[in-house]
Amino acid sequence: MSGWKIHPLLLCTLPKIYDIISHVANQTQLGEILMKIISPRQTIETVRYELFFEVEPGAGYSFDCDKNGNVFIDELSDCALKNYRDCLRWKNPRSRVIELKSSYRQPALGECECGRTVALEDPLTNECECGRLYNMAGHELAPRSLWEENYDDEY
Ligand SMILES: [Zn+2]
Repeated sequence: MSGWKIHPLLLCTLPKIYDIISHVANQTQLGEILMKIISPRQTIETVRYELFFEVEPGAGYSFDCDKNGNVFIDELSDCALKNYRDCLRWKNPRSRVIELKSSYRQPALGECECGRTVALEDPLTNECECGRLYNMAGHELAPRSLWEENYDDEY
């Protein structure tokens, strides 16, 4: 190979061209930026117990307790405490521990570029306090100002 030379001026400008290309690429690839997911979306199961005193079939008094039926006396109001003591004073108190299960969806939590935590609970847009937008998977979205103007009119 002889006679093939890179012009000195081209050598100088080449890195700058790459800079510009990568800068533009970064901007247009906004939707590909994935935030750091702190915790995934999950279902939280909770269990609590009530000690139930049956006054008549299906009706009576109930008090929050542990699974062994120990009532959380410190958490009872004065009125509830009086009711609880009345229940215990019955000659043959019919009581049983009732297990109450429930569950709720906890959205995924992601870390925004700014460091704040964002709950990803909306299927379309989840906005951080700093103004950045993310979809439910944690991909950063283009700023609202770049959205098509007729976007909102569709609703
Ligand atoms: Zn942010």
